[in-house]
Amino acid sequence: MEKKLSRESLCVQGGWKPKKGEPRVLPIYQSTTFKYDNSEQMARLFDLEESGYFYTRLQNPTNDAVASKIAALEGGIAAMLTSSGQAANFYAIFNICQAGDHFISINTIYGGTYNLFGVTMKKLGIDCTFIEPDWSDEQIEAAFRPNTKCFFGETISNPGCQVFDIERFARLAHKHGVPLVVDNTFATPINCRPFEWGADIVTHSTTKYMDGHATAVGGAIVDSGNFDWNAHAEKFPGLCEPDESYHGLTYTKAFGKMAYIQKATAQLMRDLGSIQSPQNAFLLNLGLETLHLRMPQHCKNAQAVAEFLENDERVAWVNYSGLKSNKYYTLAQKYLPNGSCGVIAFGLKGSKEEAIKFMDSLEMICIVTHVADARTCVLHPASHTHRQLSDEQLKEAGIAPDLIRLSVGIENVNDIIDDIKQALDKVIKA
Ligand SMILES: *Cc1c(COP(=O)(O)O)cnc(C)c1O
Repeated sequence: MEKKLSRESLCVQGGWKPKKGEPRVLPIYQSTTFKYDNSEQMARLFDLEESGYFYTRLQNPTNDAVASKIAALEGGIAAMLTSSGQAANFYAIFNICQAGDHFISINTIYGGTYNLFGVTMKKLGIDCTFIEPDWSDEQIEAAFRPNTKCFFGETISNPGCQVFDIERFARLAHKHGVPLVVDNTFATPINCRPFEWGADIVTHSTTKYMDGHATAVGGAIVDSGNFDWNAHAEKFPGLCEPDESYHGLTYTKAFGKMAYIQKATAQLMRDLGSIQSPQNAFLLNLGLETLHLRMPQHCKNAQAVAEFLENDERVAWVNYSGLKSNKYYTLAQKYLPNGSCGVIAFGLKGSKEEAIKFMDSLEMICIVTHVADARTCVLHPASHTHRQLSDEQLKEAGIAPDLIRLSVGIENVNDIIDDIKQALDKVIKA
């Protein structure tokens, strides 16, 4: 029933389905434990022979309701909430990669993910090759190895705002027998559903637009159920061979299309435990109830701000895929016909100092380590989020030293533009 509803209705009504006499509003199950009548019932849960709640590290009814709303919005078969977007991306990869394995990621991705893939996963023995999205098919295919297990990209990259050619990379990944994992944080399922273009797994930092109010850090992994793990069983022993830590259960046999997400829950969440708190899932659900109203407003405001910036001679460059002059305009028309998101990357004429002075001169718009919420905010990645990266790595990640990331909120757009104007006037006279 859920899949037949439109995205707008799913935002409001998806997930929680109260039975007779139950609360209409999603309740916060603030409980670590769940009661059973006898020992046998509990044992069956531990053997994964029956589904049911027993401990919140594995599953919680509040979280499950929100996860099922997100799964429905993305057009997937199931989803799992995680404590953060970082945890979501780590689990998404680690669920199918182990020491000795390799995966490929485009290089224009969120700085935290770049570190996770390039540094921390390496310590676990998992190697990542970063490729440039502009490379030819031949160049990209040369990056695949016999031990490659997946391909990763972001629908709209944070902070560079590049648009990912999902269909092309799905084709390349599938040609080499591996799934495409797409971080859909910035677009949200309101503006793009990567599964419709061939992606197999979608991840989110729900901290951003989904929550939308900057109240709770969280993440999600959504499974399309489309990837045929058994067709490449030799690549994915974790899914297609018995799991000794679950009495020899084989996920693909026991759960079919749900194998990937069941393993992520039953094994990774059990052992690594980055669960989202039910309180945060409740806040996330409130955010989701208005996602379909907020996203168009973010896009409308960002389009006007991007056009203003493009026409101001003090601005050196603007990257927003809604601008006709933008390199990603054509891709955006294909994947994001209703708008991309509220995030704009731009640079001022002058040096890094001008960028910093501009940001310090803003009044309503705040400098915060955040992006994609209702309030317009600004950040200088080279001195903030991406501080750990060398100039060379910054360049590789598509981040110019003068890049200002402006996250356009849902205030009145005239107030946003006025604030930018007065700050520009303080730095460089028109
Ligand atoms: C913020 C972000 C993350 C990390 O999410 P957290 O919730 O901060 O852990 C991952 N991917 C993208 C695209 C992001 O914007």
